[in-house]
Amino acid sequence: MSDYVRTDGLNSQGNKQNIFVLLLIGLSYNLEHSLSGAVSPTLRHALNHLAIEMQAEFPKTLTTFFKKCEEPVDSWFPYPIPPEFNPQSSLLYDGTLSEEAQEYCFYITERIGVSTRQQHNLPQSALDNLLILDTLDRLRHEDDRSAAQKYYVSLRSFLISHSWITGRHVRETDFDYALQEEIVKFYEESPVQAGDDVYTCDYCGILQFRDGRLYGIKPDYCYDHPINAPHVHRERAPHNLRRLRVGIHLRTFLPGQAELRLFDWADDLRADYPDFIDEPERYPGLDACDLCLTFSDGEIWGIDVKDHKSPHSLTPHIQPIYGEYTHTFYVIPDRRIEANSEYMEVLKGKVGHLPGNLQVEGETDFRYRVETKLEQLRKKATRSRKQQKGNF
Ligand SMILES: [Zn+2]
Repeated sequence: MSDYVRTDGLNSQGNKQNIFVLLLIGLSYNLEHSLSGAVSPTLRHALNHLAIEMQAEFPKTLTTFFKKCEEPVDSWFPYPIPPEFNPQSSLLYDGTLSEEAQEYCFYITERIGVSTRQQHNLPQSALDNLLILDTLDRLRHEDDRSAAQKYYVSLRSFLISHSWITGRHVRETDFDYALQEEIVKFYEESPVQAGDDVYTCDYCGILQFRDGRLYGIKPDYCYDHPINAPHVHRERAPHNLRRLRVGIHLRTFLPGQAELRLFDWADDLRADYPDFIDEPERYPGLDACDLCLTFSDGEIWGIDVKDHKSPHSLTPHIQPIYGEYTHTFYVIPDRRIEANSEYMEVLKGKVGHLPGNLQVEGETDFRYRVETKLEQLRKKATRSRKQQKGNF
């Protein structure tokens, strides 16, 4: 854990490394509650420190301060910036937390202790996100590991495929009553009324219609939402429509889209090479990683997809993957590498030496690796069948 998140000291005066964390939590809370003109206590704490350090350069109004937050952090922030945060990123983008700031906000709020959570007004998105961590924690303590695993896979698979639901959607699943009840907790009432139009995007889920335009949950993740675009869909809203809680939408659904792509691809491979690869397992070991592939030569691969905008914020997540794996991989979605040609180089430089059985790879390279392996297994099997025939 980084020194920047030594949160027992989050309140202590003079701990300059914490100002960044306080500012981020305070900003997020303020934006969620639309405190126009008012300031949350955590944000005020951070602003007091900044005013002292920046002196004449400190923005005169809250509006100009928020403008400042749209500039790269290293161009104005006077305190140390955590090494996991790309200093050339901004804190805000288009009036919301930037994608990188959001990722970092989740990262720190997942790691702070309960007492610190109570001292600060945590943003609702962070509290939502803690819901799924609490579920996971409960399941990890259950005696029947295989039932707990099945429950978690069903829950998580549902959440990454449904950005909105109705009670009927949930009742129509074949999940038991306890799971149906729990799923509903991850959704909240939506302002969309029955009979109105509800819009969804193939990439970022349910959209918001505002001032004649459609907005995704994170504009710098996905912003392209013309009403007639092929990836934007409109339908009539049913009664009692509920939408994913914001924190689950941001932290589970959005990265879940890259996981879903990989799951579909792995299922196709299983259909094409049934003798050489077992049924792919989702979220093995109660989320030790995203996917487990078992090959006919005895190799077991553990794979985790990491969809982070910046290699800086991804770095602390590159940890050994535990389990009975012969090889482990972190897979980076292609679009992240296409958007930043130095992504892999920066990431590899920052993570340094990795254990021998752990690799970090782009999505296309990883798929090629698996497909090549399966082809080799098939050729080998064909050769050995021919040899056996020849021996008779
Ligand atoms: Zn979108």
